[in-house]
Amino acid sequence: MKGEFCVVCGATDRPLTEGVCAECAAGRTELLSAPARAVVVICPTCGARKIGARWERSGSSPLLTAHDLTPLVRVHPEAGLRSVHWEELSSTATVRELLGTARVRFRGAEREARIAMSVRTEHQTCPDCSRKSGRFYTAVVQLRGGAERSNEKPPALRARLENVWSEILADARTDWRRAVSWQEGLPEGWDVFFTNTLAARSIARIAKQKFGASVKESASLFGRKHGQEVYRVTFCLRFPRPSVVPPLPPTGAA
Ligand SMILES: [Zn+2]
Ligand SMILES: [Zn+2]
Repeated sequence: MKGEFCVVCGATDRPLTEGVCAECAAGRTELLSAPARAVVVICPTCGARKIGARWERSGSSPLLTAHDLTPLVRVHPEAGLRSVHWEELSSTATVRELLGTARVRFRGAEREARIAMSVRTEHQTCPDCSRKSGRFYTAVVQLRGGAERSNEKPPALRARLENVWSEILADARTDWRRAVSWQEGLPEGWDVFFTNTLAARSIARIAKQKFGASVKESASLFGRKHGQEVYRVTFCLRFPRPSVVPPLPPTGAA
């Protein structure tokens, strides 16, 4: 409007909000702030992060990354955080002092804002990893060759079963795959240990329905917990060797 001017800088050519231009408002507003005590909880074994009560992002880097830092920044309700470039100013074994250079959108324009943050890293073994390190398991999936007599050598058999197994896992749900604790190679195939029996059973079902395996399930008592008998379940999966079709002789051969 004619005759109006920013009460801070006096500019007359800019849109005003409550008498102040966006430029001056940004200078007087805390666009970004850091929590007083920022803590990132990381599982040193698998890199999962504890977000609230849940563990997420298993398999990520055990080091602090922008993925950990940027979500901690508090953003003014009128502002939008576009990106932050983080720089480490100093660090001790557990606390890092960081400086973020951010691009922030505020009242129609993008500007740079800086944010200082001190972040403490805490290492905690996630429940999945603590179960695995105790070699805890509730089910074993045994991968074996077919029941027929076969002259397949153990290394060839293991390689064949490993290929089928990775195809089966590719078909399985993520939480079923994550229930795999460890696997052991044997002359007769592989034993795959699971921390969750339902996951093992579901994967055995895929092996049967889509990969033609025969499945035999058996349970053995391995202890008592809270007065209840606890069983370990074994799924024996047999994968017959595909019959080898002899190659056709080259055409035109005598
Ligand atoms: Zn102004
Ligand atoms: Zn973990």
